[in-house]
Amino acid sequence: MYDAAIIGSGPAGLSAALCLKLHEKNFIWFGSMAFSDKVEKSEKIANYPGVGMISGEELNKKMRAHAEEMEIETVDKMVTTVGAMGDYFSLLAENEMYEAKTVLLSTGVVQAKGFVNEENFVGRGVSYCATCDGFLYKGKTIAVFCGSKRYEHEVAYLAELAEKVYLSVGYKDCDIDLPNVERIGVIKEVAGGLKIKSISLFDGTEIPVDGLFCLRNALAPTTLVPGIEIDGAHIVVNRKQETNLPGLYAAGDCTGRPYQIAKAVGEGNVAAHEIIEFLSRKN
Ligand SMILES: Cc1cc2nc3c(=O)[nH]c(=O)nc-3n(C[C@H](O)[C@H](O)[C@H](O)COP(=O)(O)OP(=O)(O)OC[C@H]3O[C@@H](n4cnc5c(N)ncnc54)[C@H](O)[C@@H]3O)c2cc1C
Repeated sequence: MYDAAIIGSGPAGLSAALCLKLHEKNFIWFGSMAFSDKVEKSEKIANYPGVGMISGEELNKKMRAHAEEMEIETVDKMVTTVGAMGDYFSLLAENEMYEAKTVLLSTGVVQAKGFVNEENFVGRGVSYCATCDGFLYKGKTIAVFCGSKRYEHEVAYLAELAEKVYLSVGYKDCDIDLPNVERIGVIKEVAGGLKIKSISLFDGTEIPVDGLFCLRNALAPTTLVPGIEIDGAHIVVNRKQETNLPGLYAAGDCTGRPYQIAKAVGEGNVAAHEIIEFLSRKN
């Protein structure tokens, strides 16, 4: 069992990982090898102390290099469920289970809202993980929302299993061209009874499906961690970065505005110190 699991490889996650590493904690860090998409996209950053005027691409590169220098690696997997088990947390990431005494959510803020009724069909036809649930849809008809080029290989995998895939894409330059994959417009709503039965698009088209895969860069906090307290799009924390669930912390954009690198780094540092304190109290 890990002392801590960090979910999210942006500035908040890196800041916490550096601190836990210095304190020789046994932790696992989930996130993209590309680090933060958001930092990467910033044209010019002028207000992060010590680095002068810098492009987001350059700062992201520096952050990656800092992690490498400290011999910290990310596990390039999307965590889709965090379960509070009382004394520890269980995490599901692409079909593998992990256990940790504490968890830090540094997942960034989820801008895109889920589809109408999406949350009501989680585990009843709506899935966030192709590797975990793809086999359930062998020979069936599914819809897939692909929110990033990063997940195109997962769409290809699902297309190998399913008979028919209706694909809605949330970015430019999608390269998927497979005989059983049909591109559709923007998904609006999920419908069904005990299980999902169909999706409907903004243009009014209704498509019967057996399942819907939502492949996004981040999940809504309440989808990721059942029982977590939120305020709108943000996770509610106190000044120790504690959430309402003991042992679960949050830092960075996911806790609220201002969406700034300096704030994310500061909160990641506070959370890591609190995690260390929590672990020493427990032991
Ligand atoms: C265009 C633009 C310009 C900006 N300019 C500035 C600026 O000039 N100055 C400034 O201070 N800030 C700026 N920002 C804001 C800054 O980028 C953010 O405040 C900062 O990146 C937040 O860091 P974070 O660690 O909270 O989250 P993020 O940087 O969003 O990182 C979160 C990471 O977690 C990963 N993740 C999420 N969920 C999961 C999961 N379930 N499993 C595994 N991984 C997961 C994501 O893929 C992502 O890599 C800008 C943002 C944008 C978009």
